[in-house]
Amino acid sequence: MGSTQPDRHHVPGLSTRAIHHGESYAAETGTVMPPIFPTSTFSHGNPEGFDYTRSGNPNFRILESVLASVEQCPHATVFASGVSAITAVASTLSSGDLVLCEENLYGCTVRLFEQVFSRFEVRTAWIDFTDTASLNTIAKEKPAMIWLESPTNPLLKVIDLQAVCAAAQSANVPVVVDNTFATALVQRPLELGATISLTSTTKYINGHSDALGGAVCTNDPNWHQRMVFAQKAMGLQPSPFDCWLITRGIKTLPLRLERQMANAAALADQLATHPRVNWVRYPLRHDHPQHAVAKAQMQGGGAIVTASFQASRQETYALCKNLRYFTMAESLGGIESLICHPATMTHAAVDAEVKKKLGIDDGLVRFSIGCEDLSDLSADLSQALNQLP
Ligand SMILES: *Cc1c(COP(=O)(O)O)cnc(C)c1O
Repeated sequence: MGSTQPDRHHVPGLSTRAIHHGESYAAETGTVMPPIFPTSTFSHGNPEGFDYTRSGNPNFRILESVLASVEQCPHATVFASGVSAITAVASTLSSGDLVLCEENLYGCTVRLFEQVFSRFEVRTAWIDFTDTASLNTIAKEKPAMIWLESPTNPLLKVIDLQAVCAAAQSANVPVVVDNTFATALVQRPLELGATISLTSTTKYINGHSDALGGAVCTNDPNWHQRMVFAQKAMGLQPSPFDCWLITRGIKTLPLRLERQMANAAALADQLATHPRVNWVRYPLRHDHPQHAVAKAQMQGGGAIVTASFQASRQETYALCKNLRYFTMAESLGGIESLICHPATMTHAAVDAEVKKKLGIDDGLVRFSIGCEDLSDLSADLSQALNQLP
């Protein structure tokens, strides 16, 4: 073979895979960017097998092809939101099943299990998966499913996914990893042994805070069939337009994250030196409680930074409002920087006892670091911190 011959087995890099999607379903036009297919129905017997958009649309397939390629797995299924994707996976459970959950899961996941699926007698047990005793719990409880998130929200706990997946595999238990905070760029749960890598594409994947979406990636054809069924049977499908936006968004994911992660690492270090800061959490900082695990399983620290200020609830709230470039808002992962004060926002309704157990106090804030110039973010942070009474 000549050396100029492209190697058919060569896997292109992540940036290349994020930019090049599968079939555009518009061969006759030569369009470089895929069109939007805003149709509810398709003429019967078409060669691609489309019938009705609730069960499939060219824009779903285009996005699915990129997501599967980025995760390096054969199957991806897209949904209307991250919560739709979670609903799809949870809907495969039966009454009496036990789900062993990481105790620090995303709030809507907790709400779904506790307030919706509990009424169908799906049981949950909440444990700390950074504790190695959790591995024995898997063998003892023999749950129907394990539900993890790493890094977690908002404390950025890092779970040893490989260790949990190995223990789960010996007990024949499927593992779901919500990979929203890391994305496939930073962490690939399927390679670490997970059955399902689930993502809210609303966040980093789309990256522009202008669409909602969710996705489930898997190597297992049976799980893929279940997800395709859930998409259609439960009406969890996204809109073609949102898929198109997310397909456009993911193309710059590697570029955006590179900048966001560099900004995040620098701002975490800056925060750590301020006298009013109790502690800073960032997975790749040496003082992170699971730093070694983070270094081994993540190819970057992500772009979320959590900090605890020596400040009252009102002072912390005022600090958030005194920032110019960090909008105080829920959500994360966009090009713009955001700040969230869990005590008055995402965790306002959570029991004081539970908040204490989770480590969420009045002075805790979560930063979603954006793509702005580091010098502007840094100066903004300094001026707001210096206004603390
Ligand atoms: C935002 C988020 C979700 C839910 O996604 P939506 O797209 O808002 O429905 C699930 N898990 C995590 C970790 C999230 O951050």
